[in-house]
Amino acid sequence: MSDCLFCKIVDGEIPSSKVFEDEHIYVFEDINPKADVHLLVIPKIHISRLDQATQAHAELLSHMMLSLPKLARQQGLEDGFRSIINTGPGGGQEVDHLHIHILGGKKLPGFH
Ligand code: AMP
Repeated sequence: MSDCLFCKIVDGEIPSSKVFEDEHIYVFEDINPKADVHLLVIPKIHISRLDQATQAHAELLSHMMLSLPKLARQQGLEDGFRSIINTGPGGGQEVDHLHIHILGGKKLPGFH
């Protein structure tokens, strides 16, 4: 999926502010932060959106979810954090590569 922005970030073709990576996931700062802390957690493999994930991705999705509290704590978010997955145009998804937003800190916006 060579024209995918986040695949290019994983491959190092486009620069990013990396926070963490392992064999399965890549975590970096959102370029347009909506809060004091705003990270994106993505799978290294290309999954376009949550509703394209299958049972075959269950372990990967679990790994992403279970990584969130650890990543949030590493950012100093001791009181908790917000995680968001936008799915498809109806969910406001702008980048067609599955990602979980981690948001936290004093500028955390409310839901409207
Ligand atoms: P979504 O609306 O859920 O698809 O979110 C996509 C997010 O990707 C937005 O919050 C953007 O600010 C962010 N984004 C877009 N391009 C980049 C980039 N090159 N590096 C980091 N974050 C990006």
